[in-house]
Amino acid sequence: MRQFLDYIKAGRFRVPVCTSCRTKAWPPSPYCPKCLSRTAFRKVKTTGTLLEFSSSHVRDHEGLFGVVDMDGIRLVGSFDPDASLSVGMKVRMSRCGVSDAGTPYYWFDVVK
Ligand SMILES: [Zn+2]
Repeated sequence: MRQFLDYIKAGRFRVPVCTSCRTKAWPPSPYCPKCLSRTAFRKVKTTGTLLEFSSSHVRDHEGLFGVVDMDGIRLVGSFDPDASLSVGMKVRMSRCGVSDAGTPYYWFDVVK
């Protein structure tokens, strides 16, 4: 997990993929969830489908958030608060990083 965060910190989205059966380990793990072989970090597709979204007005967490599915990898992404979103639309990760609190964040754009 630390290695995953190191990649995210560098703005690179990499996911552990099984070296034997090519299953993606998500959440990130050094071992394949299917066959328990070792995984290695690989570049994966960062376009996905927006499954749901909502805006948050919680202090320090204000914004527009959505659950994105990228070929089986589901995560919560942030969107431009002015973006007009709808469920099922195609979105693409534009950048990622790690907050001061140590949690990863992922920004997405709508694919035109
Ligand atoms: Zn495997």
